[in-house]
Amino acid sequence: MNAFFGGGQPGGRGPRERVRRGRSIKIRVELDLKETAFGVSKDITFPTAILCETCQGEGTASGSHRTTCDMCHGQGEVSQVTRSFLGQVMTSRPCPQCSGQGTVITDPCADCAGEGRVREKVTRTVKIPAGVDDGTRIQLAGEGEVGPNGGPRGDIILEILQRPHPTFERRGDDLHCTVTVPMTAAALGASFAFDTLDGTENIDLRPGTNSGHVITLPNKGVTHLDGGGRGDLRIRVDVETPSKLDEEQEALLRKFAELRGEDQSPGRFSPGHGGLFAKLRDAFGAK
Ligand SMILES: [Zn+2]
Ligand SMILES: [Zn+2]
Repeated sequence: MNAFFGGGQPGGRGPRERVRRGRSIKIRVELDLKETAFGVSKDITFPTAILCETCQGEGTASGSHRTTCDMCHGQGEVSQVTRSFLGQVMTSRPCPQCSGQGTVITDPCADCAGEGRVREKVTRTVKIPAGVDDGTRIQLAGEGEVGPNGGPRGDIILEILQRPHPTFERRGDDLHCTVTVPMTAAALGASFAFDTLDGTENIDLRPGTNSGHVITLPNKGVTHLDGGGRGDLRIRVDVETPSKLDEEQEALLRKFAELRGEDQSPGRFSPGHGGLFAKLRDAFGAK
């Protein structure tokens, strides 16, 4: 009985494909919010493998050719027969002399040492579309490393990293932020200059604005990646109650409370009187 245990390549015998596809290159591109919102052209520099111009990927010196490997006689694999209790066992493995390719270079190209490609640092400009987000991947097909022996190029995969913005938090294509305004400005109304991604805008705060009020600036967010418009910019208003009052300020506030009939002692704000507790109760939906 002869048992054959295969080595070599799964699914087939014979020389290995000499030309192989090159590796893909993953490159992280760090962008700030404005760049992701509007798109940007970036110069990226990275190490890669390019086709050896001297031998055009052949790996052989000018005028010479690959020759059939004399160890495997072009088969790409070498076999060994051993005796065991099962009988004869034949094992085969890729030919070590030609790396399973069946041919060898006797006179290698001086510029690439027979590899058919050379390593080089290249710089290229990539166009990042508007609307990419943290973690977005962009595939540039066929722009990666040239494969061994001048094989087809792999891809470039750009992975976007978005730097945090000091003011805005991005949620989808909407931008969120909070502005703190003094109690007086919230009560009397005010206008303030606000820096959006598009430039400075004048924002009007209506008299009587409460904490939690959201001012929406439509279409001032991030461009949708599919090109259909932009997200919104949402400014949440936080009303700041003064925590330290001098005597004169306190007197003024007491006078103000008196004028509004709000000068009762805290104990008088009780449920059912339409005061603070009633408002709280209504806000929390209690009956
Ligand atoms: Zn070469
Ligand atoms: Zn060989």
